[in-house]
Amino acid sequence: RLQTHKITTGSRNLDDLLGGGIETKTITEFFGEFGSGKTQICHQVAVNVQLPIEKGGLSTPDKMAKAVYIDTEGTFRWERIEAMSKRWGLDPDEVMSNILYIRAINSDHQMAIVDELFNIVPKENIKLVIVDSVTGHFRAEYPGRENLAARQQKLNRHLHQLSRLAEIYDVAVIITNQVMAKPDVFYGDPTQAVGGHVLYHAPGVRVQLRKSRGNKRIARIVDAPHLPEGEAVFMITDYGIAD
Ligand code: ATP
Ligand code: MG
Repeated sequence: RLQTHKITTGSRNLDDLLGGGIETKTITEFFGEFGSGKTQICHQVAVNVQLPIEKGGLSTPDKMAKAVYIDTEGTFRWERIEAMSKRWGLDPDEVMSNILYIRAINSDHQMAIVDELFNIVPKENIKLVIVDSVTGHFRAEYPGRENLAARQQKLNRHLHQLSRLAEIYDVAVIITNQVMAKPDVFYGDPTQAVGGHVLYHAPGVRVQLRKSRGNKRIARIVDAPHLPEGEAVFMITDYGIAD
């Protein structure tokens, strides 16, 4: 594998856990229960990728790094981008102009968007692609065990495309996946198991998020032989992801 680059999450602890930050040429998955911080991390990294390299982003003096935000749940908030931009002294309007926001209305649309990115990414300086959440539409459209095979097949194709996009264009890909805190509640659905081992086999880094006290969250890397085991504590503040 040729050289990769890293984007800061805004939390030193989380960056250290990830071996320096969110890496290009690979998929990083954040999974965890509702409110565990998946969407807040997505917002923060969409801002952070625009920072200059020496500050943890991927912008160079002549070229701003851009992000694509594929929102499947309608939870994207410009106000959060604004707050997180001001934190670094970035102009929120400029930051927003470098985020290509796309609302995916169903799983076919979601997949078509990623196919289209193969035409868009090489023309723009896009360094980050976010899919929040990657699984929501698929779960809703292919419910239960009887649809599991069809769902997994489509989801795997989607993930394969994202993985190719990451590798070919040196882009970081972040996907999110909501899983219940108590897997026994969803016993009938193996993709709801914490850890989600049956979910799919995509290359990359999988990060489990858990709620802790107040605005504290705990991250843990799952199944990554090249990264050290352990946990990182970070916070969700009104200005974004922090230690
Ligand atoms: P879901 O699975 O429902 O999509 P999620 O993992 O995406 O959940 P987030 O939306 O990232 O969860 O996190 C929501 C949490 O972030 C809230 O519960 C709150 O604690 C925190 N949060 C959101 N906005 C702010 C803010 N402006 N200031 C401080 N904390 C905030
Ligand atoms: Mg969310």
